[in-house]
Amino acid sequence: MFLLRCCMTLRYSFVNFFKPDIFEVFFEVGQEMNPSVAIVGQGVIGCSTALAVLQRFPKAKVVLIGDRPFEKICSFGPAGLFRLDKFDCKPWAKASFERFAEIEKQWTAEETGVKLVSGHIQSDSEERLKSQEKNMADIVYNFRWLTDREKNLLFVNPSKYCIHYTAYASEGRRYVPWLKRQIEALGGTFVTKSISKLSSLADDGFNIVVNATGLAGGKLAGDDDTVFPVRGVAFEVHAPWHKHFNYRDFSTFTIPMVDSVIVGSVKQDHRDDLEITDVDRREIFDRYELLHPAFKGVKVISEWSALRPERPMIRLEKVDGVKSDGGKYTLIHNYGHGSNGFTMGWGCALDVVKLIEEAQGIAPILKIKAHL
Ligand SMILES: Cc1cc2nc3c(=O)[nH]c(=O)nc-3n(C[C@H](O)[C@H](O)[C@H](O)COP(=O)(O)OP(=O)(O)OC[C@H]3O[C@@H](n4cnc5c(N)ncnc54)[C@H](O)[C@@H]3O)c2cc1C
Repeated sequence: MFLLRCCMTLRYSFVNFFKPDIFEVFFEVGQEMNPSVAIVGQGVIGCSTALAVLQRFPKAKVVLIGDRPFEKICSFGPAGLFRLDKFDCKPWAKASFERFAEIEKQWTAEETGVKLVSGHIQSDSEERLKSQEKNMADIVYNFRWLTDREKNLLFVNPSKYCIHYTAYASEGRRYVPWLKRQIEALGGTFVTKSISKLSSLADDGFNIVVNATGLAGGKLAGDDDTVFPVRGVAFEVHAPWHKHFNYRDFSTFTIPMVDSVIVGSVKQDHRDDLEITDVDRREIFDRYELLHPAFKGVKVISEWSALRPERPMIRLEKVDGVKSDGGKYTLIHNYGHGSNGFTMGWGCALDVVKLIEEAQGIAPILKIKAHL
């Protein structure tokens, strides 16, 4: 049924030009197929998934559906710092980190939002920082614990413990539009509409439906009431001199972006109001200024609030969906990324690709390298 693909790529470098015996030949053996994929969700999760699917299946039909403007979704505002809360999600984070490393080498951060940043997280809880060490010390660059001397020099009122690391930050308002441009270049399309039943897309002829709707993921799945909002508020400020991210206990932070700096935040579980109040403004700035008094009176460029799609664990799985005529289709859930959607988006997208391969009964592309 599927076309068997066997293609050959000849590679040689200038140095190898006169040594034909070390020409490298790559055979890619796999099956080519044209799945028809509807992805509900145009945030970092939906867009990462779409791009990974199109890169793996260039002839696929991929349509991304979203029900509101980009500025109104959770993926718009974050500075997207690489940071990981859940140990079990480490493989997804690692795969994303490696992808960011590739992007950062090939593209400017003005285009992609992806850049390297260094900085600190301090806390009075050694345990909280040790869990960060376990989750990411062997993924990020330069992870280490600060000495007392360093803490006292760096901070006005240092916490007991502080870690330093260097990693990628991917900046939602640049990274997601860049993903969208990549998707469009590969033939993916975008549709604005609200979906109330995922199976309606299978009724419309899609053989694979991906649920990447973040906070709405559980409700749309219909069998999951474990997703909940964690309210966040952040301010974009003018502070071009500020070059390091600076955290206390994960909810008080600054993260440098390309043209500005993000100051945050709150993490209010089960709260879903989006209006930014004077209490938010005062509380967040007071907390941050205690950490870094230079931010007093800094110029605010914009304000942003959003709801993190939290879940005890990300839901990334393939299930049998049922169409209105009783027929089956492949439904893949990819939602519940909480505070780390940018950190894990690409790794999760690669797993969706594997699930599609599985659903279609095909083997992953196998690359065979031979020296002639
Ligand atoms: C203040 C703050 C700071 C953050 N900082 C970081 C950070 O530094 N690093 C990091 O990794 N993460 C960070 N995050 C978390 C990150 O923003 C989220 O994990 C991520 O944006 C979730 O992406 P998503 O695509 O699942 O959801 P969303 O971006 O919310 O996208 C959901 C999509 O689903 C669509 N949708 C929903 N329901 C329907 C429906 N019924 N029909 C059609 N479409 C529908 C929406 O239109 C939207 O396109 C932060 C979040 C906040 C709030």
